[in-house]
Amino acid sequence: MTQGPRLVMLGKQGAGKGTQAARLAEHYRIVHLSTGDLFRAAASAGTRFGLEAKAYMDRGELVPDDVTVGLVEERFTAHGSPLQGGFVLDGFPRNRNQAVELDRVLDGLPLDLAIDLDVPRDVVLERLAGRRVCSRCSAVYHVDMPPSRPWICDVCGGDVVQRDDDTEEAISRRLEVYEEETVPVLDYYRRLGKLAVADGVGTGDDVFERLVKVIDDWRSSSPASANP
Ligand code: ADP
Ligand code: ZN
Repeated sequence: MTQGPRLVMLGKQGAGKGTQAARLAEHYRIVHLSTGDLFRAAASAGTRFGLEAKAYMDRGELVPDDVTVGLVEERFTAHGSPLQGGFVLDGFPRNRNQAVELDRVLDGLPLDLAIDLDVPRDVVLERLAGRRVCSRCSAVYHVDMPPSRPWICDVCGGDVVQRDDDTEEAISRRLEVYEEETVPVLDYYRRLGKLAVADGVGTGDDVFERLVKVIDDWRSSSPASANP
């Protein structure tokens, strides 16, 4: 049986990780795992865990590692784990310790690629300020590119809203945390020879085509890992 790729999506807030990870998951028939979506779902369900996570999220801080790693590990050890079939992680790992913990969770199975979706700071600031997201399925819109009916998701009919952490203050804190904590994750994968950089500027379709090319080129040059 052919396995799907095992991917990590990296990139600044607003680079388009979530949108592209969802498309890649569909294209390769792999599991899309977004820690931000998991935390938001827990927060809107109002669980104690979710409300604790929300306090960090609204300030633009990282949720503590033990919580985040536990959540990811749970998904990888549960029934229907994406370990064998392939996955795209979106929003994890976000600091060096999480990257090391991910290697442990994968239990010897190597990642294929970490992809840095590269978008300049002024572009992400503009995207985040106008970003609106579906509260049910996380589809992403923009004030300049709204859903066809006012603020009702085209995909699932859910309410399209502004995220509580898409405020000016939380955005600038998240970008700071990105520089301090997440840039070292790029270095971590670069040293392992697993980092690919993809230009994240352009239409969603342009970026998606670039990503598929990066992934397919990598897989055809490493047949052992693509087809064990
Ligand atoms: P963004 O990348 O725009 O910040 P996400 O939806 O990926 O959006 O994450 C939203 C928030 O969820 C983060 O600011 C953080 O508080 C929390 N979070 C998500 N992933 C992680 C992680 N791997 N480690 C710690 N906190 C996380
Ligand atoms: Zn939706």
